[in-house]
Amino acid sequence: MSLQKTIVTSIQPIFKRAIVLTLAFLTALTVNVCGLAAQATGVKTIAFMAGHQSHGYGSHEHYAGCMILAAALRKAMPGYEVRVFKDGWPEDADAFGGIDALVMYSDGGNGHPVNQHLGQVDALVKDGVGVACMHYAVEVPKGDSGTKFLDWIGGYFETGWSVNPHWTAKYEKFPKHPITRGVLPFEIYDEWYYHMRFRKDMAHVTPILSAIPPQATLARPDGARSGNPHVRASVAKGEVQHMAWASENESGSRGFGFTGGHFHWNWGDPNFRKLVLNAIVWVAQGEVPKSGVEDPAVTLEQLEKNQDYNVPDNFNREAIRERLKLPGTKKAPGVPTSSVKPVFQSDVITSKTEAHYGNQAEPMSNIVIRRLAGRNHPRNFLSFQIQVDA
Ligand SMILES: [Zn+2]
Repeated sequence: MSLQKTIVTSIQPIFKRAIVLTLAFLTALTVNVCGLAAQATGVKTIAFMAGHQSHGYGSHEHYAGCMILAAALRKAMPGYEVRVFKDGWPEDADAFGGIDALVMYSDGGNGHPVNQHLGQVDALVKDGVGVACMHYAVEVPKGDSGTKFLDWIGGYFETGWSVNPHWTAKYEKFPKHPITRGVLPFEIYDEWYYHMRFRKDMAHVTPILSAIPPQATLARPDGARSGNPHVRASVAKGEVQHMAWASENESGSRGFGFTGGHFHWNWGDPNFRKLVLNAIVWVAQGEVPKSGVEDPAVTLEQLEKNQDYNVPDNFNREAIRERLKLPGTKKAPGVPTSSVKPVFQSDVITSKTEAHYGNQAEPMSNIVIRRLAGRNHPRNFLSFQIQVDA
């Protein structure tokens, strides 16, 4: 079966009413391909500070996670310079010279590398450099570090106030913000910290990922990160909790916090990844493309690279592949195979075909396109327009 046939037959059962499919290849869409680069105004320099090895294979894989994100940025944002520093704070004093954004993905708390470099980062932030922190790197000690985090990214994990349960968060609605461009509703199991310590009255802080955690997330007894009277009262009142947020700072710089990222495999989820990629571009004061930062699907094989630990004997890679619906499964997830005859069948697309990803205005087409484009055309995009006549 050709790719096109797959697309058309899979869409037909979804839209019961009359469908007008306009499949425009190459000629019309070459414009869009070029447009991707044009959407990025200005060339930015991004530095990733990837922390030391931490939690064992597949978790807190700071370097491997940064490498996934860095590769996506290099591919999607032409001209961007992306530096990845491994094993904590770079020794080179000039490592962060000229950067537009610093992304920190590392252990946190008392072991957060930034605790020893508050002055350096504060100077960068005052100079307009954006800061993004992921997972444990959103936790710093209350006091000097916590105060700086409120300035830089608008919030942080405060022990005795915030909690770190593992749970499945469902993100169904997003605020209109450059960071959410092209991000479709998703749900994913992670160690989603919540009840962050934010600036007073959430001043200039925009929640990006919000949900109401289930009571089960507070099943553990009180402790530094497991529960406390404040978070219990908040959850009992049904208050919405924020697992990612964006800040605009007095200095004109921008910040972003993201509490997921415990499980390395979650970087295989296209929406999870796109949201963070968008955020990195945004904190760097770059222009987030209209459909978000585009990147082909990430494979299990790519996720397995660069990890800090050896593969354990009991690692069930096919279970991971299935759970994250990563490319390479025998059956395309979510793309029904059906006997419905296609309403239109184009020429077969090959790996040499050049075209463009869909855009956010047609999310259903986007879902299908992303899966197919990622699976079969890691380097080439595919685009078609669907007009639904209701
Ligand atoms: Zn974790």
